[in-house]
Amino acid sequence: MTMTKLLYYENPELLSFTTMVLDSRLYDGKVQLELAETAFYAEGGGQPSDAGEINGVSVTKVFEESGRVWHELEGVVGDVDTVEGRVDGARRRDFSIQHTGQHILSQAFFRLFAAETSSFHLTENKVTIDLSQGDLTAEQVLQAEEMSNRILRQGLQVKVQVFADKAALPENLRKLPVVDDSIRLVEITDFDICPCGGTHIASTAELGLIKVLGFERTKGKTKVEFACGDRAIAEFERRLSSDSAVSHLLSTPFTGHTEAVSRLVAIEKELGREVARLGKELLELKAAAQEPHSVHNGRAFYKLDPWSASLDEAKLFLALVLKKSPGVGLAVLHGDPARLAVASSTELNAGAILKDVLVKYGGKGGGIPQSAQGGLPAENLAAALAEIEAKLLGAHSA
Ligand SMILES: [Zn+2]
Repeated sequence: MTMTKLLYYENPELLSFTTMVLDSRLYDGKVQLELAETAFYAEGGGQPSDAGEINGVSVTKVFEESGRVWHELEGVVGDVDTVEGRVDGARRRDFSIQHTGQHILSQAFFRLFAAETSSFHLTENKVTIDLSQGDLTAEQVLQAEEMSNRILRQGLQVKVQVFADKAALPENLRKLPVVDDSIRLVEITDFDICPCGGTHIASTAELGLIKVLGFERTKGKTKVEFACGDRAIAEFERRLSSDSAVSHLLSTPFTGHTEAVSRLVAIEKELGREVARLGKELLELKAAAQEPHSVHNGRAFYKLDPWSASLDEAKLFLALVLKKSPGVGLAVLHGDPARLAVASSTELNAGAILKDVLVKYGGKGGGIPQSAQGGLPAENLAAALAEIEAKLLGAHSA
């Protein structure tokens, strides 16, 4: 039990109230008030707190801490004994609708598949439940949704009762209470009854619609995302608008989207393969036409500076030219860090030369004697390049 009387507990319709201030404190630069009574729902049980105003100052968060309910304000109300509170009705109604929808969907999963709800999470734009079963199929999820929508259309009453102790509780509860006294039961007539401290609406008809938006099976559980009422309709609008944009791009009505996109994906794969094949062919042609930078003792030295494609392509290109005439090669990609690739088709260990020089100039490299790559700070490139080149050529003339 909290010091504050929770007005929403028994009167969820109440949105304005006048009450005494019990205590106030400053936390993280913000004023927090404890009140004798409140119509604000304090966050908990998967449901965010209400928002609204106290004496015209915004309330953005209401929470319980060690049995005390604090209202966090975005300004000051001054030194007053009584305050007037006003709960944001649209936010409360939206949360109440989603929360009531959760009770219905949870009971539907329980009745149909004995799947219990282990957690519920509600935010301003997403509602999910975790079910205890990890093997639910798309068809089963749809069945639970259908049962839920049938319940909505029956316009069943949602009733709240508070029980003083556990012994008086009815036996058909969907889940057991976590408190021993003041147990609040929420009952959807002849359909669902369970302990809950959250806010709900008075009739299932007010929900209008429950729509499952998706589900995923992980670690023996099924997480179901859904939307109720205006949220479900807004989601439908969003998807229609996306469909319409895609229809325009594809010049195809939405019934043809799957086929049209499948065709595009297949074309894209085929084009990817063709681009790779042509790229390889072009590289081979360029390699065949590439003249050595110089020739020492019958061994060619290829210097590709600057190289504008990728380092991988430089390595492939060097391998192709060195197949044509034995020797060594070097490619430089300018930038910071600058990157280099070396290759050798002789006994010369080009990999070791590159690595030694790069390390000396604050860089690093790796590879095998015939093919290696690495990088170093751009400011050291000129000095390192002169040394690598001298070593690649020096080793040849020796
Ligand atoms: Zn509830």
